[in-house]
Amino acid sequence: MLLPDLNKLFTKKLTIYQLGNPKLRAIAEPVIDVRDRQLQKLIDEMLFTLKEIRGVGLAAPQVGQSIRLIIIASHPNERYPDAPLMEPTAMINPQIISYSQEVEKGWEGCLSVPMIRGLVPRDRQIVVAYSDRYGNQQTIELTGFVARIFQHEYDHLEGKVFLDRVETNLDLVSESEYQSVISNT
Ligand SMILES: [Zn+2]
Repeated sequence: MLLPDLNKLFTKKLTIYQLGNPKLRAIAEPVIDVRDRQLQKLIDEMLFTLKEIRGVGLAAPQVGQSIRLIIIASHPNERYPDAPLMEPTAMINPQIISYSQEVEKGWEGCLSVPMIRGLVPRDRQIVVAYSDRYGNQQTIELTGFVARIFQHEYDHLEGKVFLDRVETNLDLVSESEYQSVISNT
């Protein structure tokens, strides 16, 4: 007998708020109680949502919750074929402790800004601190694409989106143009 996927039965896929919604422009509040049941439920729902839509990162403001919680879930996929594989990780009250000062430009998209890609300058290497979902304080170094995802998601906590980070509007392209031309060069 096949057992039902319990995760699918009890976890719901969240709605992703879209550009223009004020929730995406608010400064998110720190999480006070990591063990809070509602918070743990939200983490499960965000993990589930990200898996369903095969995204690489999600910030709580994108699902309408103005709190300092992000999920990083780098994995190779159609949108980012060169992404490294990592276990989806919930980061609570994340902070950037240090920057490499070495900036590189790379393509980004956002679930809240559909159909547009931008060439965004980000620090290549960062050291970040956060609380995991069990309340343990973690410090890790992130490089390249994962450092980029982190900085993108962290921006959401500050009410910013990647459109605010491009150096010029010439670095913005449509998704179809990106797929047909840029990703093949
Ligand atoms: Zn985003």
